[in-house]
Amino acid sequence: MEQKQTINFGAGPAKLPQSVLLQAQKEFLSYSGMGISVLEMSHRSADFNKILTKTESLLRELLTIPDNYKVLFLQGGGSGQFSAVPLNLIGLKEDTCADYLVTGTWSEKAAKEAENTAKSTLSTRSWTVTRVKIPDPSSWTLNPSASYVYYCCNETVHGVEYNFTPETNGVTLVSDMSSNFLSRPVDVSKFGLIFAGAQKNVGCAGVTVVIVREDLLGHALNDCPIVLDYKVQADMNSLYNTPPCFSIYIMGLVLEWIKNNGGSAAMEALNKQKSSMIYDIINASNGFYECPVDETCRSRMNVPFHIGSKEGDEGLEKEFLAGASKRGMISLKGHRSVGGIRASLYNAVTLEDAEALGTYMKVFMKEH
Ligand code: PLP
Repeated sequence: MEQKQTINFGAGPAKLPQSVLLQAQKEFLSYSGMGISVLEMSHRSADFNKILTKTESLLRELLTIPDNYKVLFLQGGGSGQFSAVPLNLIGLKEDTCADYLVTGTWSEKAAKEAENTAKSTLSTRSWTVTRVKIPDPSSWTLNPSASYVYYCCNETVHGVEYNFTPETNGVTLVSDMSSNFLSRPVDVSKFGLIFAGAQKNVGCAGVTVVIVREDLLGHALNDCPIVLDYKVQADMNSLYNTPPCFSIYIMGLVLEWIKNNGGSAAMEALNKQKSSMIYDIINASNGFYECPVDETCRSRMNVPFHIGSKEGDEGLEKEFLAGASKRGMISLKGHRSVGGIRASLYNAVTLEDAEALGTYMKVFMKEH
């Protein structure tokens, strides 16, 4: 039976490049002629070590990661890092406090987790920069004694993305890049630590990349669980415990795909093109489509919008989703906490995919 073409606009786990899936399929039963699958391979074997080394070197190449940074491949997802970051970094300075810029669901969760982790002896200071507009950084009041400043570079639920790197006057900068990792070039040297779950732009669920400057290792609190201790994982080359081997392998394939398609600069050009096409339709719709996010910080990765009014007309939005589904376009429903529609346009979403959505949006508007 012929399969209907499906376009996945899901926020994550998200669409993977077709060629990566085909390669994984080809190698699934017998990796590199070995007669076993990557799923069956010892994480201490020379063959897995090659996969790990290749994945790390591709990442270093694609992001020009300086030599004084370690790259870790960990389990526990982005949420695991919400705990790992304060456990490892809040003790960097005597004041043991951190600044959290809260621009949406994910930075808010990270800030709450840091407060829980820090317990009574330590403090975190989180402040809302707002979910629809990032104010001019000159109006921010960052604490110079903070151990680190934390922000989420792209808020997946609210569609708010920083198009600049916050200036922290020497305070260590930490960023959650889970949903815009490798969607644009990044100057890693401006950060103390970057982390990203793979399941949006660089692979499948199960592995989280942590890029951490070497001088930040070795400051974990005494009660930091050993699997979350960056120094332990860095010293053991991410092999303190069994790593998510298959997810690392898939990430290696995706990174190869990114490299073969022009690297992070080419991804940025494509992501700009896809997202502006959708935002242009929203802007030209005379309020039929409403994006709640200020134009200065609209995400290229997750485009949230309402239909019919600012709050959204529930009936119209349902009809939109049903019509999209008939055209093979799935996972366009906004996050349950905000409702509406959300189109996620990660690296693997093609220009043609975005055009199909744009065409449908225009047709739907005309019909209503
Ligand atoms: N950070 C961001 C920006 C996310 O979008 C998500 C999940 O979607 C997370 C963190 C949490 O990741 P995980 O579900 O892997 O714990």
